[in-house]
Amino acid sequence: MVGARTGPPLPETPLDDPIYVTRPFLPPLAEFVPMLERIWERRVLTNSGPFHQELEARLASFLDAPHVSLTTNGMLALSVALEAAGLEGEVVTTPYSFVATTHSVLLEKLTPVFADVAPHDLNIDPAAIEAAITPRTTAILGVHCYGNPCDVVAIEAIAARHGLTVIYDAAHAFGVRLHGRGVFAHGDYSCVSFHATKAFNTFEGGAVTTGTAAAKLAVDGRKNFGIVDEVRIPTVGTNAKMSEMNAAMGLLQLDHFGHVRRERARVDALYRAGLADVAGIAPLAVPLGVEPNHSYFPVLVGDGFPRSRDGLYEHLKTQGIYSRRYFFPLLSSLPMYRDTPSADPANLPVAGDAAARVLCLPIYPDLADPQVERIVAAIRAA
Ligand SMILES: *Cc1c(COP(=O)(O)O)cnc(C)c1O
Repeated sequence: MVGARTGPPLPETPLDDPIYVTRPFLPPLAEFVPMLERIWERRVLTNSGPFHQELEARLASFLDAPHVSLTTNGMLALSVALEAAGLEGEVVTTPYSFVATTHSVLLEKLTPVFADVAPHDLNIDPAAIEAAITPRTTAILGVHCYGNPCDVVAIEAIAARHGLTVIYDAAHAFGVRLHGRGVFAHGDYSCVSFHATKAFNTFEGGAVTTGTAAAKLAVDGRKNFGIVDEVRIPTVGTNAKMSEMNAAMGLLQLDHFGHVRRERARVDALYRAGLADVAGIAPLAVPLGVEPNHSYFPVLVGDGFPRSRDGLYEHLKTQGIYSRRYFFPLLSSLPMYRDTPSADPANLPVAGDAAARVLCLPIYPDLADPQVERIVAAIRAA
């Protein structure tokens, strides 16, 4: 071949050095090996082993959650929470989320009823919840979208007035604090994901946090086939237990979470400074009183920008920058939901507008300053 060279290829175009929306953080492997050795010595691989118990205790304290029950992933955390709550009928929820939120409702044979989101935080709007409640409503399923807490005070008041269970899909909200207190202190159940793409990962994993010991017991049963003890199996349950290997990874990740949060905050600050004067690009503000985890960097592409949201998304791709349109399409537009009356786009104008304008830019702990500058420059040049 003419011009062939030896050695590693040089990046000639941005496509040779792609930047994806996220890249999982991993602690040094040398720190994990001794934990694996402990597992090999003990031969306790799962079923609430020592690492599992230690991680539940440490997370309860770190998250300000009264009780923690670890699960295989965030999706099963939602499923077992909905089961443990013993719900039937309708669950009022948001159309502006990842599919797991409403799929869990449907899989538990409940009916999702969509309520619109509020424009300032894109979280379910308490006024819209109130309007969606019927005699068949048994629960509110809010999502702390991008880690920004729902209006937990208003939601608690609505739930108390109507006798409803409050469940939060807190998949994005690991380590988020509201007025100095962990957001997991709120709600009857909160479900978090430790997926590779989330702010805190155990490769795959998740947890249900509960307000009461009785609710934790119900979750613990549901995630272990409904078994209470050797002879008592009073309910149907699934297998949603976290293994010792994932729990060990969680303990190690927890030691490094301060670093992860600081590095994410650095990227967040660089974006906000670099994009401040770009007309038509509006980063979502962090609400007052919130200590965020910077798990996402959503911007809304307005009419003042020379390209549409999809135009910017495609332009960035040509520069080797892979942003994501979280959350587009709206859940209410998917085939299994769109025929329900509350899925009418006229009922969900704020969510519809956000889904058409939002773009999540790459953010992760080892995204270097020059890479962030490259992304900012690509947006400015669009
Ligand atoms: C990631 C995510 C989930 C699912 O979590 P898994 O651990 O991937 O099963 C649920 N809800 C939301 C909002 C998510 O972003």
